[in-house]
Amino acid sequence: MSTSTTQQNEVKRPPVVVVMGHVDHGKSTLLDYIRSANTVAGEAGGITQHTAAYEVEHTGEAGTSKITFIDTPGHAAFQSMRARGARVADIAILVVAADDGVKAQTKEALKAIEEAGIPYVVAINKMDKPGADPTKARQSLAEASVFVEGWGGDISVAEISAKTGQGVDELLDLVILTAELEEFTGTMDADAEGVVIEAHMDQKRGATATLLIKRGTLSKGMCVSAGKAVAPLRSMEDFQGKQLDEATLSQPITLIGFSEVPEVGETFKAFAKKKDAQKYAETCKSSPADAENELSQPIIVPLVVKADVGGTLEAVLGEIERLTTQEKGFKILGSSAGIVSESDVKLALGTESPVILGFNVKIDKHATDLAQKNDIPIQTFDIIYKMTEWLEEELVRREPEMTKDSVVSTLSVLKHFSKSGSKQLVGCSVEKGTLRAGSRAKLLRKGEAKSAEGGSPDASEETSREVASGKILSLKRGKESVETVEPGNDCGVVIDLSEEILPGDTLEVLAG
Ligand code: GDP
Repeated sequence: MSTSTTQQNEVKRPPVVVVMGHVDHGKSTLLDYIRSANTVAGEAGGITQHTAAYEVEHTGEAGTSKITFIDTPGHAAFQSMRARGARVADIAILVVAADDGVKAQTKEALKAIEEAGIPYVVAINKMDKPGADPTKARQSLAEASVFVEGWGGDISVAEISAKTGQGVDELLDLVILTAELEEFTGTMDADAEGVVIEAHMDQKRGATATLLIKRGTLSKGMCVSAGKAVAPLRSMEDFQGKQLDEATLSQPITLIGFSEVPEVGETFKAFAKKKDAQKYAETCKSSPADAENELSQPIIVPLVVKADVGGTLEAVLGEIERLTTQEKGFKILGSSAGIVSESDVKLALGTESPVILGFNVKIDKHATDLAQKNDIPIQTFDIIYKMTEWLEEELVRREPEMTKDSVVSTLSVLKHFSKSGSKQLVGCSVEKGTLRAGSRAKLLRKGEAKSAEGGSPDASEETSREVASGKILSLKRGKESVETVEPGNDCGVVIDLSEEILPGDTLEVLAG
């Protein structure tokens, strides 16, 4: 029997903070300053070594609190994690240089923060510079619809210098205050889950990854599966290279010995038994994220086109162009009138999965031999609609095996909590399959009762029809954000879907 883990021994956890903003506005300088001012040198002397995340202790008005910083300035990494549905950071610091104001990447950062639905505080940086104009910076923020305190809004702001450290303590106070208001909690009484925030192939140590624990506890002897990559937990290091026996909520840790380099942004799960980790990794072989990546790749079929005469060739090329869109279609490697010759096959060589298409033409013997040797199909037609049909089918054949519509999980909608624009929060029960954040979902609703012929109304069979589709943005169990929910559990689902979702509806969660 599976039991719901909602609200299970929830404890307060340190917030995970990401620093974002325009290039050169001082993100790295701020991260370096906070790191050196708020961490004690590690035993391994790793104080200057760069890691994907670090933990600090800040003593402010509310006493001493821990904060975890994601040490990858810029939003590219953050967005790639978001794209995989992982909610990595809890709070963002938006850095705006006092001598420059809001710039293009500040706006991009704001958009990413908004999409992630996380709170943020503003740091007006470079206050030590003679050209610093914090009023102008606030004005440019207001123009970008960021209304800070004192400027018609309630977004906290600190004036700082990442270079001298002026105001950084106040900034960290604001971060802690935000965390207190949001009440970030999590359970330690579970096998750890979280997100891969960095991964690489280490020359000496093999496939290595930095993981951020979002839930549960990770202890030595367990086995971690991050997507398809599996690592037995023999050695676990904190951000300073210190060996740990155990790690928990909001802690970044480095693990070595993965079977392959895991993907950044992939979620991970820890298991007591290696066998279970391996089983889980198997089910990740075609994870929604993989499928999404695969599906987002355009399907392009390279073609060498031959036709008997110029006029026909034009018609054939016109037809091919008609079938080509941005997402899928054909790329013409070469086209000419005349029989299919060896040089046409040579033209196709070196391209991945090309096809030679002939219309009303014969094939030269040498061309056939060379094509066979290189597994290049030569397709000839003499009726245009047959050719069109074949080309259309070829595009379907080339779609990734795991189609967009394969259902990986089914949810029953229990309650509709809120809707803001197309963003909705609903309470669901996971009936079948592991539910993952970031997946696409189809909304099914029971339609009109369809009576079986001659049957009583009771025997009527209700059929569900697809009403709309959308993307699952995040998942919650209690107050806690989670990346996956196993069947048999209830959870909160934040979904971007235009049609209002009603209790009794079904959500079919798709592979891509
Ligand atoms: P990032 O691209 O946002 O990470 O910006 P950096 O941290 O690399 O900073 C860009 C430049 O601004 C560097 O030359 C820093 O030394 C400088 N800088 C960053 N913060 C401050 C600051 O508070 N005061 C001054 N005077 N310079 C700063």
